[in-house]
Amino acid sequence: MDFLRPASWADALAARAEHPGAVPIAGGTDVMVELNFDRRRPAALLDLTRVDDLSQWYEQDGLVRLGAGVTFARLISELGDQLPGLAMASRTVGSPQIRNRGTVGGNLGTASPAGDAHPALLAAGAEVEVESVRGSRRMPVSDFYLGVKRNALEPDELIRAVWIAPATGPQQFSKIGTRNAMVIAVCAFGLALHPDRLAVGTGVGSAAPTPLVAVEAGVFAGSALEEEGLWESRGELPPALTKEFAELVRASAAPIDDVRGTAAYRLHALSVMARRCLVWAWNDYRRAA
Ligand SMILES: Cc1cc2nc3c(=O)[nH]c(=O)nc-3n(C[C@H](O)[C@H](O)[C@H](O)COP(=O)(O)OP(=O)(O)OC[C@H]3O[C@@H](n4cnc5c(N)ncnc54)[C@H](O)[C@@H]3O)c2cc1C
Repeated sequence: MDFLRPASWADALAARAEHPGAVPIAGGTDVMVELNFDRRRPAALLDLTRVDDLSQWYEQDGLVRLGAGVTFARLISELGDQLPGLAMASRTVGSPQIRNRGTVGGNLGTASPAGDAHPALLAAGAEVEVESVRGSRRMPVSDFYLGVKRNALEPDELIRAVWIAPATGPQQFSKIGTRNAMVIAVCAFGLALHPDRLAVGTGVGSAAPTPLVAVEAGVFAGSALEEEGLWESRGELPPALTKEFAELVRASAAPIDDVRGTAAYRLHALSVMARRCLVWAWNDYRRAA
């Protein structure tokens, strides 16, 4: 097996175009499992760890530009203030070893419905920047997921970065697993309050073929809070609002029975997580007044 080691982004794109059968590898925490279990035997690996640009993050045009190779550990230690939902989700990924190697770009590359970054990226309204020698394009993260472990990358494209607005309000992430650590989500939920645009962002994980936005739930909560003047007054959440929000999140999902849980359990758990995340985030919003 060839091992391609480009030292620059331009070289990485050229190698990707020249060797369409080469599998990109960042932290390797998904790729190496596949190789070790002989699920995949690519002609070559395209190692991205020497491409400096991928491991950088910075602010530009009021957004955080997060290089695809930024690890979960760095997200937690460096971006907890700007991207609290993604940092929370990152804390639940694997173990310290996995968080030190694993990257957001790798989570997107795998596009597992159970990937923990996805609900937080969806709730925050992130965009994914992908590029090839033909040029670059940016898309809402919700358009990036096409099916179970399928994403919108063309064969010659690489993920370059994720663009995310720094939080303007509290964010939450909740994940259910069969134990407290080192566990793939049975299901997960991310929520972001956007008081600047009176909106509630949502992200549902591991409860459909792709991660998804609970669109109706978000629209309902954002406008119900507006109609009752709650964004401004920061008054208590009416229980009927929380209940309806949880029902709508539940209705957005299409889970299956599998080894990690039943569809019925996932639906129930989702509505509980949705209610809790909304209440936790709202209480933080009230306290921040
Ligand atoms: C023990 C263990 C526990 C885990 N626990 C969790 C968990 O709790 N939550 C969770 O979400 N995940 C978990 N994972 C899965 C894995 O750690 C994550 O999916 C991680 O984000 C993968 O990142 P990586 O950099 O290691 O990706 P890699 O393994 O390097 O790559 C993953 C995929 O993305 C592609 N890729 C990587 N970078 C790019 C790029 N820039 N452009 C295009 N394609 C790219 C690769 O070709 C590959 O298909 C776990 C894995 C292990 C082994």
